[in-house]
Amino acid sequence: MDIIVKNSFVDMIRDGYPLITSDMVDYQYSVDDEGKTALLFDRNRRYLATAYIGKQNKGLAWVYSYSRIEKLNYDFLQRKIAIAFDNREKIFNSKTTTAFRLFNTIGDGIGGVTIDYYAGFVLLNWYNIGIFNYKDDIVDIIRNLFDVKGIYQKVRFKSKEHYANHVWGEKTPEDFYVLENRVKYNIDFEDGNMVGIFLDQRDVRKFLTGKFSENKTVLNTFSYTGAFSIACLAGNAQKTTSVDLAKRSLEWTKSNIKVNDFDVDQQDVIVEDVFNYFNYANRKKLKFDIIILDPPSFARSKKRIFSVLKNYTELIESILPLVNENGYIIASSNNSQLTSQNFKRMITRALKNNDIEYNFQKLYRLPEDFKVMGGFPEGNYLKVFVVKVGKLG
Ligand code: SAH
Repeated sequence: MDIIVKNSFVDMIRDGYPLITSDMVDYQYSVDDEGKTALLFDRNRRYLATAYIGKQNKGLAWVYSYSRIEKLNYDFLQRKIAIAFDNREKIFNSKTTTAFRLFNTIGDGIGGVTIDYYAGFVLLNWYNIGIFNYKDDIVDIIRNLFDVKGIYQKVRFKSKEHYANHVWGEKTPEDFYVLENRVKYNIDFEDGNMVGIFLDQRDVRKFLTGKFSENKTVLNTFSYTGAFSIACLAGNAQKTTSVDLAKRSLEWTKSNIKVNDFDVDQQDVIVEDVFNYFNYANRKKLKFDIIILDPPSFARSKKRIFSVLKNYTELIESILPLVNENGYIIASSNNSQLTSQNFKRMITRALKNNDIEYNFQKLYRLPEDFKVMGGFPEGNYLKVFVVKVGKLG
C-alpha cells in the first residue's frame, strides 16, 4: 500500500520522526489494514519511509524502515528483538536485578510493543492491533532467544474481545517477586494494566536505597504498591508513610514491606485520597524529610480532577507545609506532553510563590533499558526532580 504524506509533514518524516498520525497523510483507515506495510511518499512520489499500519491513540502507523523492500516479517522482527536483547546482556546477567525492559517500542526499532523481563517470565504489552497480529511470531522469537519460563500479555488497545493474560508456558508462582538492586518487589501479572512495579523508575529507586534516605522520614504519595517506600527502607529510612486511594495498595504495600523483612507495624500505609491526607497532616502539623510525589497524569477523586499539566504547581504548594527545613521533594511526572523544562518551571513557581529557598539537585530520566529514539522526544517521557528546600519564607 502507498500513502501520500502532506507537504508540511514531509521534512519531519524525512528527518526520522517515526509516528504517523491521521493529520499527516491522505489515507482512510480500515481495520483490515492493521499490520500491513505502507510505503510513504511525498506528493511528487518521492519515497520517504516504510511503516506498518497500527492505530494507537492519535497514531495510525509506525515507521520501521527506510528501505522500500523491507517487510515486517519474522526475520525482521527476529533481527530487531535479538539486537535489543543483546543490548541488555549486562542487566540480563545480573544476580541482583531480575526485572527490566527487554524491548522498548520504537526506541528498539518497532513501535507499539514492549517486552519486559520478570525473573524468568516475560510480559508483552500490545499498543495496537497491527503489531498484535504478529504475536505468534514474537512469542516464538522470544522462546528461541532464551530459556523463558512463561509468557504473559496485556492488550493496551481498545478491544471488545478478551485476550487471555497468560499466553504460553508456566504460570508464575503464587508468591511471585523480582529483585531490583537486591530489593524484593511482589509482582502480579493479572492485576489490570499494572503489575506492582513501574520498571521505568529503577534509577530513582536505586538512588533512594542509598545514603540519601538514611534516618529520614518519608511521605510517599500516590504510592501504589509502596515501591518508593520500600526503596527508602532499604536505604535505612527512619520511617515511611505511604498514601494511595486504591484499596489494593494496602495489602500489596504491606506484603512488599514484609518480603524484605522490615517491620510492617513500624510503617504507615494509608488508603486515602492524598488531598484529604494533606489536610489531615496539616492539621496535625506533621512534617517529613522527604516527600515523594508521583501522580498519574489525571487523578480523579471525589472532590476534584487533578491534571499534571494544570495542577502540579498547586500539588507542590499543598505539600510545602509538610516538608521539614532542609528536606526534599521528589517530584515525578510521566506525562509525555510535559517537557522537563516546563515541569521544572511548574515546580519552581510553587516554591517562589511561597518564598522558599530551593536547590534542584538531580533530574532522573528513563533508565538505560528504556531505550529512546532521539527523533521521538515523546518517548522520553519520564522526569523526576530531586529538590532540596530550605527555609519557609
Ligand atoms: N509511585 C508509584 C506509582 C503510582 S501509580 C510507584 O512508583 O510504584 C498512581 C497511583 O495513584 C495509583 O496507585 C492510584 O491508585 C493513585 N491515585 C490516583 N489518584 C489518587 C488520589 N487522589 N489520592 C491517592 N492516590 C491516588
